[in-house]
Amino acid sequence: WFPNREAKIVMVGLDNAGKTTILYRLHLGEAVKTVPTIGCNVEQVKVDSNLTFEIWDLAGQANLRPSWAAYYAATHAVIVVADSTDRARLGILKQELFKQLQHEHLAGACVLIYANKQDVAGAMSVQELSEGLDLVSIKSHNWQVQASCALTGEGLLDGLKWVAEELR
Ligand code: GDP
Repeated sequence: WFPNREAKIVMVGLDNAGKTTILYRLHLGEAVKTVPTIGCNVEQVKVDSNLTFEIWDLAGQANLRPSWAAYYAATHAVIVVADSTDRARLGILKQELFKQLQHEHLAGACVLIYANKQDVAGAMSVQELSEGLDLVSIKSHNWQVQASCALTGEGLLDGLKWVAEELR
């Protein structure tokens, strides 16, 4: 159902979660120094010979979050990047996530959640994060949590593979 084997992904999350680092790690295979995203970055990531993802990295600052919805049209998948060290703002991320899932343009999208910054001592585990975001209550969308470290790239491709399987 995406004839050119190109799928659109929007990547969201609070500011400082690691979205831009993930995008360029996937695109270039290396960690880059980032500056806070104003608007969005978009890059293509080739998953295999017949599937390319176009990934939109949307800015995460509070005043820019309302503009996320402008990018939702024709989206196949959503990536939510969670900073696993940011316990204080997990409730805000949960609110943003559930608000997003209600958007009509995302009704058919699958949702990948990166539990990012797993390299940091004391980071929330996948289970802790899942409970904090109340993921089990999501019945409207297929979802998956993936532990990741954007600095090394660990877990990033595993997450994309899940998305690719969902879209086949
Ligand atoms: P964004 O605002 O979500 O786009 O976040 P950035 O990609 O700009 O990353 C914010 C900060 O977190 C930067 O200093 C990154 O180097 C750092 N960072 C991103 N991912 C990881 C990770 O997996 N582990 C650690 N330790 N730091 C990370």
